Amino acid sequence: MHQVFNFSAGPAMLPEAVLEKAQAELRNWNNQGTSVMEVSHRGKPFMEIAAKAEQDLRELMNIPNNYKVLFAHGGARAQFAAIPLNLLGLKTTADYIDGGYWAHSAVEEAQKYCKVNVIDINHVHPDGMRGVKPMREWLLTDEAAYVHYCPNETIDGIAIHEQPDFSGKIVVADYSSSILSREIDVSRYDVIYAGAQKNIGPAGLTIIIIKEDLLDRANSVTPSILNYKILAENDSMFNTPPTFAWYLSGLVFEWLKENGGIKAMEARNEAKQALLYKAIDSNDFYINRICANNRSWMNIPFQLADSKLDELFLKEAEASGLQALKGHRALGGMRASIYNAMGLEGVQALCDFMDVFAKKHG
Ligand code: PMP
Repeated sequence: MHQVFNFSAGPAMLPEAVLEKAQAELRNWNNQGTSVMEVSHRGKPFMEIAAKAEQDLRELMNIPNNYKVLFAHGGARAQFAAIPLNLLGLKTTADYIDGGYWAHSAVEEAQKYCKVNVIDINHVHPDGMRGVKPMREWLLTDEAAYVHYCPNETIDGIAIHEQPDFSGKIVVADYSSSILSREIDVSRYDVIYAGAQKNIGPAGLTIIIIKEDLLDRANSVTPSILNYKILAENDSMFNTPPTFAWYLSGLVFEWLKENGGIKAMEARNEAKQALLYKAIDSNDFYINRICANNRSWMNIPFQLADSKLDELFLKEAEASGLQALKGHRALGGMRASIYNAMGLEGVQALCDFMDVFAKKHG
């Protein structure tokens, strides 16, 4: 039985079944008489679960054989630096699609390493709804080493649901807040990366999925720990990996497989987001100004028409077991993050609460 529904943007809730399994084997993992945190990453038992986690992720995402999967430290922000360091090669410019807070943060880091061609795709429709321009309108440049974009803006609640189709371009995507949420065609990307703490597992682990033929172009000053080739050659064990996060992520991958894989998650996530946007759109008490095409399925920000009620909303929500709904400080208002671990019943509980709160205070 759940105790609360946790809408945190990240670190975010994990599947209950995963926490139960981790708890049950915490003190005596794999009959070792120790926890998984206390064994060598180079010992056979850990190596086996590490390899299985990778294999399960490959199956879940249907990752082609010519891609490496890396398990790294440093969160997505480390990748903001690792991407230009590893991918520029002899080139000096890169295209960065700017559609929100995180895409923009990636720009700021990349500017330390190259000339960044910032492509602003923000778009406000005549009715005042915010969105981003479709991919066919992105003005990519010939000289860029790669194009970087963020398919799901965790703070803004904006998603780019289109799949990239830029022939001849190296496409890099920050999937931190939407990896594993719906089916994607990995072969359309050259690099996909994601911090674990939303849809994968606990903080401390970053997953990088990279086409093998890109491993050879790192700048010689690249710190070894950020160098994809070195990580790949060492099976992500160049230094001590975040073993507990890797183990727990493996349990999440098993849970996903047992629950129908990404296809089933996609159907569940579609139903969840539809329910919550309906609750927002059908009541003047609540506002979300993102246009239909670009609404995130994972992070749903909304405002109260009367912001003076914000504090009360959060207090009453918390008292009803609905946690972490406070919006990011950059936007204010509320935000409900509804990653894979959040079931439909949690979203329904939020919608019911919103309805009652609006009736009471409207
Ligand atoms: N990109 C996106 C889309 C994110 O949501 C976040 C974290 N919220 C980051 C990058 C930064 O991730 P980290 O804290 O793991 O460096």
